Amino acid sequence: MISRAPLLMFACLALWPGVAEARGGASLPMTPAAAVDALSTTALSSLPAAVPASTPSARIEQDNKSKKKVNKRKRRRRTRAKRSRRRARRGFVQLTSNGPGFVIRDPHRSWGTSLTLRRLKEVSSAYIKRFPQALPVSICDLSRRWGGKFYPHASHRTGRDVDLGLILKRPRRGWVKASAKTLHAERMWFLISSLVATGDVEYIFIDRRLQRAMYRFARSQGHSKQELGRVLQYPRRHGGIVRHWKGHRDHIHVRFVRPSRQLRRIPVS
Ligand SMILES: [Zn+2]
Repeated sequence: MISRAPLLMFACLALWPGVAEARGGASLPMTPAAAVDALSTTALSSLPAAVPASTPSARIEQDNKSKKKVNKRKRRRRTRAKRSRRRARRGFVQLTSNGPGFVIRDPHRSWGTSLTLRRLKEVSSAYIKRFPQALPVSICDLSRRWGGKFYPHASHRTGRDVDLGLILKRPRRGWVKASAKTLHAERMWFLISSLVATGDVEYIFIDRRLQRAMYRFARSQGHSKQELGRVLQYPRRHGGIVRHWKGHRDHIHVRFVRPSRQLRRIPVS
């Protein structure tokens, strides 16, 4: 039997250029320049469109752009903070020592607007005149000399915030958490209503339970619900100048208005 393999090989070789032509290939060998052209065309057409953006140089450029944006934002924020500090500094005055009806904790932490200090002095003086046997009002942190951040406070930056000690039936050293039983509702109510009556208080934070004690005392003294509603948040959950805020069971926080802005005076006696 004669083997057919050599015959098949011959047929394939004879047909090869025809096959290449039928597939669109070149029947003649390519020149080197044409080969390079063909290669580069194939390479470019096979690349995805987004490739140039992810090249190292493009990525560096993008990083630089985003860094510049962040820096710009930071600079703007710093400038804004500086401006607000400068604004706040204007008219800052210091409580340097104790005065009639009040004691201060630390003069370095007792800088405020002249309006804040004036109102604090007036109210403290009225308080001690009304209750000569009482201990003076304890004035704690106001603001720092240049305003701005004041750890651990979230506010106290603009000379308009002040923390005052609570008035207890049995005064104790430091800040002690009070309850309706231990709070001296009459004196506390006098102090708070006097502050509100200045018309220059934006809000006061004090625990709801202590508000209830003052509310009951004020009602027993003949104050109407309507009158008390303009001052105390209790028994409501919203509104009122004197509001509940978590963490104000051992002191009160008073926010005075901006010196340029006067609120409507609220008559409370
Ligand atoms: Zn405070």
